[in-house]
Amino acid sequence: MGTEIEDIKSKLNIVDVLGEYLRLDKAGSNYRALCPFHNEKSPSFMVSEERQMWKCFGCGKGGDIFSFVMEIEGLEFREALKTLAEKAGVKLQGYSPQKAKEKNRIGEILELATKFYEVQLWKGEGKEKILPYLRERGLKDETIREFRLGYAPRGWRNAIQFLTGRGYKIEEIAKTGLLVEKKDAYRDSNLRIHSNSRIHESHEEDIRRFEDSRTFADSNRFYDRFRDRVMFPIADYSGRVVGYSARVAPGADESQAKYVNTPETEVYHKSKILYGIDKARMEIKQRDWALLVEGNMDVIAASQAGIRNVIAVSGTALTEDQVNIIKRYTKNIKMFFDMDSAGQLATRKSIKLCFAAEMNVKIVELSAGKDAADIAREDPKKLLEAIRDSRGAMEYILLKAFSRFEKNEAEGKKKIAADVLDMIAGIENEVEKNYWIKKLSQELEINETALTDTLKKANLRSRIRRSEESADAAGSPDGKNLADRKKIEILADEIIGLMLSFQGVWKRVVEKEAAALAFSKDSLLNILVKDGQSLGFDFGKLVDFLRQEGKEKERARAEKIYFEKKYRLDLNNNLEEIFIENPLLELEQIIKGIKIEIKKEKLLKITTDLKMAEEKKDKGAVELLKSEFKKISDEAFNLTQ
Ligand SMILES: [Zn+2]
Repeated sequence: MGTEIEDIKSKLNIVDVLGEYLRLDKAGSNYRALCPFHNEKSPSFMVSEERQMWKCFGCGKGGDIFSFVMEIEGLEFREALKTLAEKAGVKLQGYSPQKAKEKNRIGEILELATKFYEVQLWKGEGKEKILPYLRERGLKDETIREFRLGYAPRGWRNAIQFLTGRGYKIEEIAKTGLLVEKKDAYRDSNLRIHSNSRIHESHEEDIRRFEDSRTFADSNRFYDRFRDRVMFPIADYSGRVVGYSARVAPGADESQAKYVNTPETEVYHKSKILYGIDKARMEIKQRDWALLVEGNMDVIAASQAGIRNVIAVSGTALTEDQVNIIKRYTKNIKMFFDMDSAGQLATRKSIKLCFAAEMNVKIVELSAGKDAADIAREDPKKLLEAIRDSRGAMEYILLKAFSRFEKNEAEGKKKIAADVLDMIAGIENEVEKNYWIKKLSQELEINETALTDTLKKANLRSRIRRSEESADAAGSPDGKNLADRKKIEILADEIIGLMLSFQGVWKRVVEKEAAALAFSKDSLLNILVKDGQSLGFDFGKLVDFLRQEGKEKERARAEKIYFEKKYRLDLNNNLEEIFIENPLLELEQIIKGIKIEIKKEKLLKITTDLKMAEEKKDKGAVELLKSEFKKISDEAFNLTQ
């Protein structure tokens, strides 16, 4: 990679690269500009052509072309490298040209398709049908153009025919997510296949055309995913179209899914997409906050109303990846979600994610039943006011909790405390954390230390749980507890073997011991517990099921364990069935063994935590951990009796 960076640097001049973003004025042998990274009136941002470096004497930032592009575009190094390599015409290694070419083709096709849908909207069938609807919803023509809205006409083969006509192969088009392969038709939420397995009547003509098209040999395996829908192209940060969100056309069969989105493809990863990010990111950076709304229409309407630092999660809950993308541009988020109960839950979860990433969150609230798009259309001023009056996330949480539960009753106090502490636990900053604990204690008229203790216990418990999970997930032994881990693995094989060999044992485990095994990260064991009932506790059915599900690893393991438990070779190398006199008794012993192993692991974790707490001289934690240790070791001891 080192030589690639040099190569790119030798081919690009810093003055040209930065000149695309800034107005550079010659100043002696250097160049000067207003710094894009802080507010200033007289330029203190210098560019040295000779040294190919930049430096701002106002805010102190500086570097080469890579650091500049990373900073101004909000990119990771890898992405900046790609961007600049492209600009320099340098091929990156470890970056297969075949893959890159393929991605380029996908990009080309999506760009072409976007234009096709735009033409259908402005000049085709959509002109009479869709354009008036969009205007009625308050969108100006320039806004519709800016966001490149389009219309996918009725019919099964419009996009296919247009794109194959432009020389693209059907396999290439399929990679864009624009098509549905017929074997996947049952997953096409756009199609309503009725119980008599005929397609909805309103599409009869389409179906006839579709059937006719079978004569076109190869391409009849596919049909258009988007039919009779308003198209919202979704772009990546640089404005390249990577997918679509498609709304059912007004007047079309409303029983269809309201929105159909592009499935995951090589270029479209929905957990990493933020609708509008290409248009909003510079604005977010400059204003140093982002407005996060729920849907595409909210973004477009808010943007038209002059709030251009606006983005939306598109058809998902906010993800960690999305939070990290926003964080490249700002640490401040204002959230504007629907305030129905689903919206409130989503808001809560999103706040937690943002707290974990140490972001500052504010909540924009409006009367229920209205979304950002409605308000922006009806009265943009109201939207601006609501944003101005947004509340800090913790204040919002507190308010909600107090409105939900009765603070003058003991039970209500408990619920409020649990509800709010759950959020406080996620705050990283100690000062802020203490502030909210104090506030909660005042409002609830509860002793502060009682709340702090509750919070500590909750934190410790979740830490114990987390470390257990990560140890289990890691699977492979990490040194000192190698022997123990092996033991628990052997026990898991034992119990699986017994379950597979005896339907009665399997049934008993599912009905009586599921809780004891709930800890397990053993995927086969989990399947046995979860699906045992529906498989009739039958080994043969299990094998078929695993094969269908593509769980080859689990299937192979199930068969191996089954045969080892059930058969052995006798002295003459003949297969002999193993006789187990009392399988239920054996089950009891294995379960007991597993329980003991789990306790042992817990004790080990507590010992580690205890050491840490003692080092930190955290008396409260030491007390708690000691009593926890005693409790669990007592339980473990009782099990061995
Ligand atoms: Zn600066």
